[in-house]
Amino acid sequence: MADDVVISIRDLHKSFGSNEVLRGIDLDVVRGEVVCIIGPSGSGKSTLLRCVNLLEVPSGGTVTVDGTEITDPDCEIDDARRTMGMVFQQFNLFTNLDVLGNLTIAPRRVLRRNRAHAEEIARANLARVGLSEKESSFPGQLSGGQQQRVAIARALTMEPTVMLFDEPTSALDPELVGDVLDVMRSLAEEGMTMLVVTHEIQFAREVADRVLFIDGGVIVEQGRPEAVITDPQQERTRNFLARVL
Ligand code: ADP
Ligand code: MG
Repeated sequence: MADDVVISIRDLHKSFGSNEVLRGIDLDVVRGEVVCIIGPSGSGKSTLLRCVNLLEVPSGGTVTVDGTEITDPDCEIDDARRTMGMVFQQFNLFTNLDVLGNLTIAPRRVLRRNRAHAEEIARANLARVGLSEKESSFPGQLSGGQQQRVAIARALTMEPTVMLFDEPTSALDPELVGDVLDVMRSLAEEGMTMLVVTHEIQFAREVADRVLFIDGGVIVEQGRPEAVITDPQQERTRNFLARVL
């Protein structure tokens, strides 16, 4: 495998009982690439992302992240997962901890960083998402958009190789979406490798290096955003885009 391939997925299948949700996905993501995944509800987008960090165990195929085949039963999944930051639709912050506490708990417990070092990294990442002044706030005192930016900063404190986003703006009031997308855009500009499930077609068009359209558990169409979004070749892609644009 070329060194610059960060995520390599081969013939990935996932069934829940008799429901075959992923039907053979092949995907390579290279270092620094931003891949946006679009597609109808229920098409398998979240399942694909969750198979990449083994929150779901694939029924078949392989997933290799940064050279480690995580679908190998001998893989140390906790080590492998640490290379991936995941941001969900729901922010999942610890409501009993302030922002700095949310950002330092995993580096201290998992990476065994001392408090001063963990706080230094936390503050650097809070600055990255534009929330330096909120370090002593509790999640309940923040807007949804601010909470999601904290969740992104928290994922970044583990210094991931790749960031996985599953509809990070879908739970937000419309006026709060832009700030979160701006943070994601600046991460992309810094060269972060990103796999982003999103309904924000405009964001995909502007930020993605590649857009995948998934339907029925297969990649129906993929390519440069201007090709897939502006000039889709497949009927299913055209129908989907006509509904969301
Ligand atoms: P999307 O994110 O594209 O909306 P999902 O990956 O969440 O789609 O879901 C795809 C299909 O898999 C749906 O039919 C959903 O009901 C099913 N599914 C997802 N997770 C589970 C699960 N844990 N158990 C059973 N079925 C599931
Ligand atoms: Mg989903």
